[in-house]
Amino acid sequence: MQILKFGGTSMSDQKTWKDVLKITGDSEKPVVIVSATARTTRQLIKSAEMAAEGDLQEAIKIAETISERHEGIIRGFFESNGKPLKGELINDCLERINSQTDTLKSYLEDISDTGSLTLQSRDAVAGIGEQISSYLLAKCGEAIGLNSRYVNARDIIKTDSVFGSAQPDLEITKMKSAKITEMLNNGQIPVIGGFIGENERGEPTTLGFEGSDYTASILGEILGAQKITIWTDVSGIYTCDPRVIPGARPIPEISFQQATEMAYFGAKVLHPSTLKPAERKQIPVFVKNLFEPENPGTKIFGKSANSGKAKVISYRKNGVELTLTSDSDNAGHKFLSDVFSLLDRYQMPVDVVNTTEASVIIAVENNPKIPELNEQLMRLGTLEVSNNKGFITLIGLEVNESAEITDRVIRVLGDTKIDLISFSASKKHLTVVLDEAELEMSVKKMHQSLFE
Ligand code: ADP
Ligand code: ASP
Ligand code: MG
Repeated sequence: MQILKFGGTSMSDQKTWKDVLKITGDSEKPVVIVSATARTTRQLIKSAEMAAEGDLQEAIKIAETISERHEGIIRGFFESNGKPLKGELINDCLERINSQTDTLKSYLEDISDTGSLTLQSRDAVAGIGEQISSYLLAKCGEAIGLNSRYVNARDIIKTDSVFGSAQPDLEITKMKSAKITEMLNNGQIPVIGGFIGENERGEPTTLGFEGSDYTASILGEILGAQKITIWTDVSGIYTCDPRVIPGARPIPEISFQQATEMAYFGAKVLHPSTLKPAERKQIPVFVKNLFEPENPGTKIFGKSANSGKAKVISYRKNGVELTLTSDSDNAGHKFLSDVFSLLDRYQMPVDVVNTTEASVIIAVENNPKIPELNEQLMRLGTLEVSNNKGFITLIGLEVNESAEITDRVIRVLGDTKIDLISFSASKKHLTVVLDEAELEMSVKKMHQSLFE
């Protein structure tokens, strides 16, 4: 069997749904994982935020826009592909849209009543998109003669209770996914929403942004897939985001380790945790273009030692730089160890850190735990917070070229103010922290100088 994962870009309208179903129908023994339709997750989260801010009316309006968009896709799909006898299927779809919209509205009302948005209620709202898209796609498949069947991801993906970035419990999930194997044995095509799961109390969780890739990989591992294909809107993994850098080059093959690093440092094409389960079982992962299916795309495989040494540039926005200066005269190691214990307590994934005895500069991706961390840091000294920082990471360097490349990067960025620069010899990457406003231009300059 194999896993096919279709992201939000593939799930954008009735025309792409047709392409998705064509690929599904042409594949041998597929299990289909889908994201929410394009823009839906972001809009859902926006609606939850509006409700928490007291604007329930605006929140409900967003819910209705989402509902109407799905109805439009379904009507469009059935009009161009359905036969008259498919009336029942279209009604099932419309009922699903209505019931999920009602669920959404009741979540929004609860959020508005309490006036705050917890990670838990955010997850409940954010997952509605996949709950709609997976059901509808399965029905559209049936309408064109596929044996596709909706599977509720929450019955399969059982997770811990870390709302916002839950981890699946592999053992229970494996037990639950026996149902999928049974369906495959009966010649059915299971269609499952990515990104979402459920904790042991039956409360909705999510695996984090772009988490559908992770669902695909987890199920690939558990079900023993021969391959996993991530279908998206670009022909594989490139040396840099091809939408921003026209000169970016496609990479035909890349190792699990390097692709993971790219994702971690911001290449949106894959969720950073995606590849671990596939790597554990050495299941090759392909990244392919829905709009150009004959293009081979990128193959991710192999042990890191023997494959894929491509150099690539990843970048990320939304960074925060925290500069903490100790107020005490004899700061030293106690100060540093206090700071690092706080980072540990808040499980803060630090990207770049620069220390002297009396001060620390920490660059991290902005996240909901920062305000609380800052309060604690302020007890240790004087804190300066700079928002809107960008990170650029060059991955795949050879140690012997690090000095030359660092030099080149500094030269090519010219007048741009670089806040921090760090080189990791063991990981072979170089990270630059600068103002977000300078980010894209700097990425372009670096890519041009190093690759074009
Ligand atoms: P999906 O909806 O299919 O999950 P995403 O938007 O999450 O799609 O990921 C695909 C996008 O990733 C591409 O449109 C591209 O702009 C972006 N991207 C960023 N970095 C890279 C890269 N190095 N190679 C390919 N695509 C990249
Ligand atoms: N729909 C979710 C998101 O936008 C998950 C995904 O697309 O992978 O983050
Ligand atoms: Mg994605």
